[in-house]
Amino acid sequence: MSLYEYAHDLDTPVHPVSAPDYMPVEELRALQLHRLQGLVRRVYDHVPLTRARMDERGVRPEHIQTLKDIALLPFMMKTDLRDTYPFGLFACPMNDIVRFHCSSGTTGKPIVIGNTQNDIRVWQNGCMRALALCGVRSPDIMQVAYGYGLFTGGLGLHYGGEGLGCAVLPISGGNTDRQLMLMRDMGTTVIACTPSYFLHLIDEGMKKGIDFKRDMQIRHGVFGAEPWTEEMRAKIESLTGIFAHDIYGLTEIAGPGVANDCRCRRGLHVFEDHFYPEIVDPETLEPLPDGEQGELVFTTLTRTGTPMLRYRTRDISRLLTGACPCGRTIRAIERIHARSDDMLIIRGVNVFPSQIEAGLLSIDSVLPHYQIVVGKEGDLDTIEIKVEVTRETFSDDIKTLERLRQRIGQAVQRIINLSPHITLVEPHTLPRSEGKLQRVTDLRNRAVSSKGV
Ligand code: ADP
Ligand code: ZN
Repeated sequence: MSLYEYAHDLDTPVHPVSAPDYMPVEELRALQLHRLQGLVRRVYDHVPLTRARMDERGVRPEHIQTLKDIALLPFMMKTDLRDTYPFGLFACPMNDIVRFHCSSGTTGKPIVIGNTQNDIRVWQNGCMRALALCGVRSPDIMQVAYGYGLFTGGLGLHYGGEGLGCAVLPISGGNTDRQLMLMRDMGTTVIACTPSYFLHLIDEGMKKGIDFKRDMQIRHGVFGAEPWTEEMRAKIESLTGIFAHDIYGLTEIAGPGVANDCRCRRGLHVFEDHFYPEIVDPETLEPLPDGEQGELVFTTLTRTGTPMLRYRTRDISRLLTGACPCGRTIRAIERIHARSDDMLIIRGVNVFPSQIEAGLLSIDSVLPHYQIVVGKEGDLDTIEIKVEVTRETFSDDIKTLERLRQRIGQAVQRIINLSPHITLVEPHTLPRSEGKLQRVTDLRNRAVSSKGV
């Protein structure tokens, strides 16, 4: 029996938390409209930036009479969060905020998202539904190897797992030896981490003579936070005998648990009673009909701390048409392969070239000419930055140069949270361009296809 047939054969009762996944479509649209109207009123009353943009267009909350009227509303973008840093888009008093999360901005400062008690519940609901959709349930032992802290990955999956009654092991990212030891000794049945980190765990396990099929109890992998492919899914499943599921989300909208693929593997169902999806043309910003490819936009229908109206994710996808054989009525998006901006995702961490530039140029002897090379070592991403330094610096002794290399590395690491390999080069050795300079070389896709993964 193939894994796919096995998946369909599993007699998994629908968990009560999944009920909204099957809501009759008309009821769902009515609920969404009701929630949208409430949201627009809240944002108009409490977020000056949005109110000003709506006033400019002559749009008032009472103009939202149907879901289609959402097209009257202005968009929000990461730059809005940056420009109003840290709290400018908050729609509630600080008294109501119970937790912050941060994600990369486009420069040195992160963006800040505030969560109220209500928002934490909404997000937990998304994560519980995502996990339930994967077939995770009590008494699963769930090892959460996404980073905890300002990232949403760790705490999101953590509360999702606890909500379903799983036994959660909050190990966070890194420390591969300990991950493997606890995974084996405790009989972990669900692993949640980036797909590339799981491949790394498999590799390191193999070096220690661990065969995942023989020595581990894992049934489900909940993989996301970075783009990956059907080919990588097939590789993971054949090496380990687990189900590899795709979970999608972003900090601005909640965190993980905005969408998750189902057993039909057509795409990822969006928990659209909370996170209303649209696809727009990234150039004209006109809404596109279901089935057409464009930029994914979300409106957080139920959030109260930092609600987002038509937030442009920059992720490229499409809303799938036709009913899904799994019976869910909530729509699904095609899995994300591309973005419409220059954001890189390295080891699951979002990195903008402009952040790297901000770190580099904070050091005096660095010249504004650099190249970023993203590659792979085994299954883990690597990042090298080649940077020109002044001629005087270059004539310094080796020790001084090494110290400078470290200082530059630390300055960049402080901003992007990843430690890059820095290579210092002489002035005028890196490429120049009269047009748009290609500063980033991403060798990862090539490496993947050459391995036939
Ligand atoms: P996360 O903790 O999920 O990485 P971030 O806000 O840091 O949240 O990053 C969100 C971005 O990560 C998304 O806009 C998307 O580009 C990418 N991403 C998240 N999940 C997936 C996924 N399953 N497939 C492809 N890209 C993903
Ligand atoms: Zn489905």
